[in-house]
Amino acid sequence: MRATMLYGARDIRFEDRPDPQIEKPTDAIIRLSATCICGSDLWPYRGIGNFAEPPTTMGHEYCGVVEEVGKEVRNIRRGQFVVGSFAASDNTCVICHDGYESSCLQREFMNRAQAPILRVPLADGTLVATQDVPPKGLIPSLLATSDVLGTGWFAADAANVKPGATVVVVGDGAVGLLAMLSAKQMGAERIIAMSRHESRQKLAREFGATDIVTERGDEGVTRVKELTKGIGADSVLECVGTQESMMQAIRSTRPGGFISYVGVPHGVELEGAGLFFAHVHLHGGPAPVRRYLPRLIDLVLNEKINPGKVFDLTLPLDRVAEGYRAMDERRAIKTLLRTDGTN
Ligand SMILES: [Zn+2]
Ligand SMILES: [Zn+2]
Repeated sequence: MRATMLYGARDIRFEDRPDPQIEKPTDAIIRLSATCICGSDLWPYRGIGNFAEPPTTMGHEYCGVVEEVGKEVRNIRRGQFVVGSFAASDNTCVICHDGYESSCLQREFMNRAQAPILRVPLADGTLVATQDVPPKGLIPSLLATSDVLGTGWFAADAANVKPGATVVVVGDGAVGLLAMLSAKQMGAERIIAMSRHESRQKLAREFGATDIVTERGDEGVTRVKELTKGIGADSVLECVGTQESMMQAIRSTRPGGFISYVGVPHGVELEGAGLFFAHVHLHGGPAPVRRYLPRLIDLVLNEKINPGKVFDLTLPLDRVAEGYRAMDERRAIKTLLRTDGTN
């Protein structure tokens, strides 16, 4: 097959790689129905952070049809349509049991999914199968549950969004937008989107945002306070991962309120006394998407939500480099990569 490799900053190549094989008896091999590029892929793409020696494989969002399973796989069968999360998990250890599958004692991060065929470790724990192979039109939304919706859902859940709540979402990337959709599903009454991009504001409103704040920093905090009787929001969902966005979130939350943070942090440092007097709950980390997958897949199959709308660019997989460029230059929110016709 051919697969996506990162050779260095802004150097993506689609090249020959060995076909994935069953390596452990708990593995499955799936043929992907579609895959995509994540906002978090842009960090290594831009050469930021500590990553493995190049060239590295890329991609961690996936859904597709099972081609082969290892000897010890019990629940997943050949021919089933499946979705999994970016973190493979056994779904049996004490951490999984508590709902934190993305910190499973046997966790393996997926990083080879921008390819037509994928090996999934711990298949029984990681993958969720649907009853039937779903219609093609639902593939983008099902793919979205694999990370970007699952992460947005965790953002809303971890920030304790309840019916009637006032919610602020910091960040208008794909995760931020789907965090708005999630907050709306959980019954938030007011959803304030912090967004400066017109095309994204439109989607934000479609997903449930009731107010848009374009200001940032002190002015952004002032605007949020004006919209929340001067005290700040009940729940603030930080979906970026920078110092600026984290401080925006903490300063926009009412005392006693909840903040979730789901963007991989880059250079974020919190000062103790400020945090102490902010009097907020902080809860974040790599989203335990597996916990939410059955419910999110159901919502998509019953056409209650359409998270696939965050994909505003679709390319064949062999043009993956173009997809990265478009997201890097903010010409696309999120790129879906079609795998049909790619081997
Ligand atoms: Zn992702
Ligand atoms: Zn586990």
